[in-house]
Amino acid sequence: MAQYDYDLFTIGAGSGGVRASRMSASFGAKVAVAEERYLGGTCVNVGCIPKKLLVYAAHFSEDFEDAAGFGWTVGERSVDWRKLIANKNKEISRLNGVYRKLLGEAGVEILDGHAEIVDPHTVTVDGKRHTAKYILVAVGSWPVVPKIPGAEHAITSNEAFHLAALPARGIIVGGGYIGVEFAGILHGLGCHTYQLYRGELFLRGFDDDIRRTLADEMRKRGIDLRFNRDIKRIDKVGDILKATLNDGNTIEANQILYATGRVPLTQNLGLERIGVRLKNNGAVAVDEYSKSSVDNIYAIGDCTDRLMLTPVAIAEGMAVANTLFNNKPTKPGYLNVPTTVFSAPNCGTVGLTEQDARQRNFQVDIYRTSFRPLKHTLTGRHEQTMMKLVVDAANDRVLGCHMVGPDAGEIIQGLAVALNCGATKAQFDATIGIHPTAAEEFVTMRTKVA
Ligand code: NDP
Repeated sequence: MAQYDYDLFTIGAGSGGVRASRMSASFGAKVAVAEERYLGGTCVNVGCIPKKLLVYAAHFSEDFEDAAGFGWTVGERSVDWRKLIANKNKEISRLNGVYRKLLGEAGVEILDGHAEIVDPHTVTVDGKRHTAKYILVAVGSWPVVPKIPGAEHAITSNEAFHLAALPARGIIVGGGYIGVEFAGILHGLGCHTYQLYRGELFLRGFDDDIRRTLADEMRKRGIDLRFNRDIKRIDKVGDILKATLNDGNTIEANQILYATGRVPLTQNLGLERIGVRLKNNGAVAVDEYSKSSVDNIYAIGDCTDRLMLTPVAIAEGMAVANTLFNNKPTKPGYLNVPTTVFSAPNCGTVGLTEQDARQRNFQVDIYRTSFRPLKHTLTGRHEQTMMKLVVDAANDRVLGCHMVGPDAGEIIQGLAVALNCGATKAQFDATIGIHPTAAEEFVTMRTKVA
């Protein structure tokens, strides 16, 4: 008789947990996954997927305006927020079903309910005990709102996806991914949008040319960006929220959305009780193979706070499955992880920023171009696309590619392959462009920035 009920017990059926569970099962492991909220986790339910659907929705306002330059007459238009949200919800339900089916077909048992670890080999789900050789913690993260007076009146991205109505005026606090993405969404759909960021310039950690270009483009669109600003208190006056800022000004809005980061969701799991070491912010401390301080307990994804990105969680999940059940100890790679902010317009990036490269003492050559996309020669829109290459002057290797402009993510994905192959600037130059595209600019930049 088997020593344990399962070879692997996964807690959390988000992107990482599902991938690890399915792959482990495909390698012959007996697997169960417990989920207390929704199948597919943040990405499917209140993250990447619904966000991108809303980004598409928001973009139509520009598309309708731009159509005139191409001879189209577009009549009266309005957006039906409730219909948009209902359609989005329908798609998310479909995806929840797809996840259930995928897990089922892989032979993974799904246990709906809250899991708690009681000893290194035992998990309870709503009181029922299950034993496993390995436990994988893949519980994700949750948005945090700073404790200011009136914080209870604010919402986070979790609620933003389910609002009953589109706010006429909205304030977004935070200058990270979620903040700039929601600023584009709300503004595009017709909400008068303010975005506050506590520092000099948002998107800290991104290349400065991306940060500056995006700020210019967002302002041109009419988003009210306020840097070095934060909310000191929020008062509810009737249906209106009054935000008092650190500069003494007040802004009134119908919704205030905090996008001020996410914290690992590791509470109430019993981790400390069994000696799993947590970092100061509650993230599970893991080694390069995603193993925690307890030998048979692994953790992946947002709850380890390495890179909070869905494809990274998936890669970590694959690596754990290979390590534990495929005789292939695998460390996930974190080099040249490409990423895109689905702001208006998009920002795509892979590799080192110029600042990073200089800080690491690379001698760098910088190539940069800024141009009006061909489409806008007829629309009259004054939008600029920015592209930039950071090159190691010592050996001609391309260290980083950065872009602000339509479809930045689609373009940067391919360049990430080139960077992982160690491409040089000469190889970029030797590559024939596709004409006329924006992407071809990445292989036609010849003049170094002085
Ligand atoms: P981020 O960590 O990206 O950004 C948080 C922002 O809030 C920063 O601008 C930060 O400022 C600011 N902030 C933090 N604390 C406070 C505070 N107390 N008061 C005021 N401002 C504060 O978090 P997000 O919530 O935007 O996103 C969470 C994670 O989700 C991201 O890191 C990303 O990994 C992932 N994500 C990825 C997406 C994608 O791939 N497209 C989309 C959405 C999310 P400062 O810079 O000064 O610290």
